[in-house]
Amino acid sequence: MVKTYGYGFPRLGKQREFKTLIESYWSGKLTETELKSGIAKLNEKREEIYKKYVDVFPQGEMTFYDNLFDASLIFGFYKAETLDDYFALCRGKNALEMTKWLNTNYHYLVPDFEGKEKNFSVSWNKHEGIKENAYLIGPFTFLKLSKNLPEGKFATLLKSLADKYAKYFKLNGFTSVHLDEPAFVMELSDEEMEAIKNAYSVFEDIDTKINLFTYYDSVDNLQFVFDLPVSGVGVDLVHDRGENLSQLESIEPKGKTLFAGIVDGRNVWRADLFEKANLIKKLSEKFDIVVTNAAPLFHLPVSLKGATLPEELVAKVAFAEEKLKELKLIAEILEGNEKEAENWIEGINRAFGVRKNVKSRVENLTEADFEKAVPYAERIKLQQEILKLPLFPTTTIGSFPQTQEVRRVRLLNRKGQLADEDYKTFIKGEIAKAIKIQEELGVDVFVHGEFERSDMVEFFAEKLEGIATTGNGWVISYGTRSYRPPIIFGDVERTEPMTVEEIAFAQSLTDKPVKGMLTGPVTIIAWSYCREDIPVSGVAYQIGLAIRDEITDYEQAGIKIVQIDEAAFREKAPIKKRNWDEYFDWAVKSFRVCHAKSKPETQIHSHMCYSEFGKIIEYILAMDFDVISIEASRSKGDIIEAFERVNFDRQIGLGVWDIHSPYVPSVDEMKPIVGRALKVISKDNFWVNPDCGLKTRRWEESIPAIRNIVKLSYTLREEA
Ligand code: GLN
Ligand code: ZN
Repeated sequence: MVKTYGYGFPRLGKQREFKTLIESYWSGKLTETELKSGIAKLNEKREEIYKKYVDVFPQGEMTFYDNLFDASLIFGFYKAETLDDYFALCRGKNALEMTKWLNTNYHYLVPDFEGKEKNFSVSWNKHEGIKENAYLIGPFTFLKLSKNLPEGKFATLLKSLADKYAKYFKLNGFTSVHLDEPAFVMELSDEEMEAIKNAYSVFEDIDTKINLFTYYDSVDNLQFVFDLPVSGVGVDLVHDRGENLSQLESIEPKGKTLFAGIVDGRNVWRADLFEKANLIKKLSEKFDIVVTNAAPLFHLPVSLKGATLPEELVAKVAFAEEKLKELKLIAEILEGNEKEAENWIEGINRAFGVRKNVKSRVENLTEADFEKAVPYAERIKLQQEILKLPLFPTTTIGSFPQTQEVRRVRLLNRKGQLADEDYKTFIKGEIAKAIKIQEELGVDVFVHGEFERSDMVEFFAEKLEGIATTGNGWVISYGTRSYRPPIIFGDVERTEPMTVEEIAFAQSLTDKPVKGMLTGPVTIIAWSYCREDIPVSGVAYQIGLAIRDEITDYEQAGIKIVQIDEAAFREKAPIKKRNWDEYFDWAVKSFRVCHAKSKPETQIHSHMCYSEFGKIIEYILAMDFDVISIEASRSKGDIIEAFERVNFDRQIGLGVWDIHSPYVPSVDEMKPIVGRALKVISKDNFWVNPDCGLKTRRWEESIPAIRNIVKLSYTLREEA
């Protein structure tokens, strides 16, 4: 009988118990003992779910914040004597930097070698009492995802780290471990492979069996992994473009177990279980096989139980719990027990959300739909005639503080306790306040504040046909922060204006231009579960057309500037660079569909809240916006290097205030960031703004910080 294995099951809990527990501890409502027993209970419930469906699962996956961070502590890279020390490194003033985990929207705490002599040592035993399948992130992934490694030291560090892993295994007397090594799917250099081989050799003479898991893409040299001193290899047979599967044909298993990842851990669609079972049957002719999920399950909401979503959709999707069930059903099929599997997949191919008009609109797109008729150099003149902006114009990125009050009122409206009309009146009141504040501060380009939006993707998902939102379908993005990814299940269509009322209202209150505020196709797709029955490019163009229509309505309402946020543009890029052209081709085109047909005098902005543009600057430029605002404060303007290489003839707004922290920077602190950039970018092309939206900030910080930004701009104008 084929064995089943599940891993990465969400720690959040069906009712977001994880969030409640940790945040209660933070606010002093729970003691450390209460927190620890609460988390232990939550973990027991979690393991109950595993036990219901699969034969084996890892031990020790639970964490108070992040598993890569836990590995940092286990191996002495950071030190935390107490739980409060632990959380101090996760959040607050001295927190470690967070970054996205490979190509996902989960953020981990980045180990940073900057300025410190870092030695590894076994410093914390997280796995006390655990003997089997102890869960750990592997040494290669740990180092590969760290930053500021001393030059030329990778191999030595990896060797030293792997030695400590071996020591840790011994200390605990593990019979087996689960090592997550997703970084194995990156494009590895020969030196890196040599370093891995060398470091992993320490596992040759230990008693612990190692099961090494790769996921999110294919491994370029799978035989290399099978040749390492491990007992089992986990491969992703869903997100591998067929590349793992084709390698398996010629792999020599050498007695190693193949953990075949065939149930998708990243998307919600139910699998064709019979097709999967056939594949397993075929692979078992050669391999000792265990059936498992492809990618950890924490990218999915916990369970369909207790989640609400449209009836027709329920029969098509599976969340984390149901993915485990699919593993079980595959095993049952292989034993000749097909009944339940047949029922389970009955609805998967039923058509739902078909909109012929949308389809044909995409099919009929021609070159002119992607290409602006007037080049940037002329557009900017037309725009400036209307906007008459000063040098170093100031603006903000969109959202203003989402106060308790705003969230409370939105919730009341959602629960049906506040009529839509009253809710609208409330929102308009907030917009009016925001406009008044911007007038007083002397900002040049205004925003309406996004008070009506819970989330920049969910808001549009609720407005668009073909995208469903879920009740209670929460997923962790970092720490205790969770969001509900919508599900793009059908053809996406805008049936009526989505944001025009609020933006036009804001514009009616002021003579300053108010930016229309939209979320771009790539970001909507990246932070949703996307349908797979048509190519993703088609979905992106459908969303692009909806945005195009919204911009047309803006123009009619007298809006002169439109910002299309593409916060996930970089994140959505494939892990392997060789697949980048294919991705950026549709990503860039989907942005151009949004604005190619807008008037040349309508100024198009985009915003991306990060700064690693080095490798993607050419693609960014191809988006053909007029202005882009980016993060610059944390890197102190380093990003400008990327702009030196290309002829960046657009306007650029530098983020001079790190909005992730409540700290209000002074003019003198912000000024050097601009000074540095002015060497590369002409003063005529320069905007000043915060790094990102102010949703998570308070007015008490926002007002003084914006005041300083405006002052900075005045100083720059005087000096220009
Ligand atoms: N306009 C959005 C906001 O200000 C942008 C958020 C983002 O880029 N993450 O909130
Ligand atoms: Zn941002």
